Amino acid sequence: MERTLVIDCLDKIDQAIILKGWVDTKRDHGKLTFIDLRDRTGKIQCVGFEKMGELTPESVVEITGTVKKRPERMINPDIPTGTIEVDVSDYKIINKATELPIQIDTDGLEIGEDVRLRYRYVDLRRQRMQKNIRLRSDFTRAISDSLYTRDFVENETPMLTKSTKEGARDFIVPSRFQPGKFYALPQSPQQYKQLLMTAGFENYFQIAHCFRDEDLRSDRGFELTQVDIEMSFVTREDVMKTVEAVVKEAVKNVDGKLKDQIFPVFSYSDAIKQFGADRFDLRSEEEKKDETLAFAWVIDFPFFKKVDKDDIAEVRDGKSGWTFTHNPFSTPIPEHLNWHLKKEHIGEIITAQYDLVCNGYEVGGGSIRAHDPEVLRQTFHIMGYTDKEIEESIGHMLEAFSLGTPPHGGIALGLDRLIMVLTGERSMKESVAFPMTSTGRTAVMDAPSEVSDEQLKELGLKRG
Ligand code: ASP
Repeated sequence: MERTLVIDCLDKIDQAIILKGWVDTKRDHGKLTFIDLRDRTGKIQCVGFEKMGELTPESVVEITGTVKKRPERMINPDIPTGTIEVDVSDYKIINKATELPIQIDTDGLEIGEDVRLRYRYVDLRRQRMQKNIRLRSDFTRAISDSLYTRDFVENETPMLTKSTKEGARDFIVPSRFQPGKFYALPQSPQQYKQLLMTAGFENYFQIAHCFRDEDLRSDRGFELTQVDIEMSFVTREDVMKTVEAVVKEAVKNVDGKLKDQIFPVFSYSDAIKQFGADRFDLRSEEEKKDETLAFAWVIDFPFFKKVDKDDIAEVRDGKSGWTFTHNPFSTPIPEHLNWHLKKEHIGEIITAQYDLVCNGYEVGGGSIRAHDPEVLRQTFHIMGYTDKEIEESIGHMLEAFSLGTPPHGGIALGLDRLIMVLTGERSMKESVAFPMTSTGRTAVMDAPSEVSDEQLKELGLKRG
């Protein structure tokens, strides 16, 4: 007999079935034992006469039995299978669970992060986490579908790569074949996605994994996932319009509620004047209770800012004392192109950058890029790079931009943060299956960890 899923039992009254799943709860009433069996589709009550007494919660079991209608007074209106139960004729323990290290019948927020993440595979069984991770899957699919229907090509870009600047430190990976040389893990697919525009794909997207060695905050680790998008022959408004439509479609697909059908647009300076910040919450108190999503765009950011001397990544990038605010590959708005090329009014140059905010968080950001090599070169000159340094760090981009590159622009939406906002969570860790601890340790597995002297030697590295 084939396995029946819990939810399908509703159509199998008086039929013999086999169920497979976890013992959600167990209640002993003398000779009768009741368990709620849980699978991915729900829970169902199973009743055993002089059976199942030794089952432990969260063991994986196979139950053979017959689906029965419950007597009227035993109906449980709180669960979809509350009108039926399974009369157990036989059962098998497939995997016995010992006592669980953490409770999973609560929302889990009362449990310490370390123990939740050490036993994340148990923690993820709780209803709240199942809902969050399943919503993440549905939302990601909806975004992808929406982009596919708009003629986007999905493509992966390398993980072992050269440094690309997103304002954080790189994670570096030693090369065994070329001892003393290193790859960098991508802070974003920025340069490769632009090169896909040079390659003529016109519309690209990727659910991209990125690595940023930033100071840890309680709600984020070193890795993030973004919906990475790039488009050719577009203006700032074209990208914003497409992204807005895609986000709206995906939000509706997961039954999210939008405050505005047309996302309001604020200039950076207006946002600062009105809200004191470039990320803000447009919801009323009522809308906050309702889990409404209030998206808005912010545009017209300054391209450059003075280097923050306490930030090593900024000091490294901004040798002249100036560094980029968002993305060095952006172009200035057309009105300020001349200032940029002449290195005038540097602090006043506005970049063709747009950020998407929602409920007080920045959930995306992108820009129209400099596809003219002179404009890109000048950005790096403004930051104090010498010609030699420019050649070394972005010479390949300048070369590509002299071999037929269309005007282009794109965006990256922070998937972890979007899911956090959509699920009404406070931390991005609640929207990722295996996030890091706040001290930078991996979930379940104990990394970072030591490597052997032999491995180090092979890589040409010495223990520090
Ligand atoms: N590369 C940018 C980021 O990761 C996004 C973009 O400009 O497309 O934030």
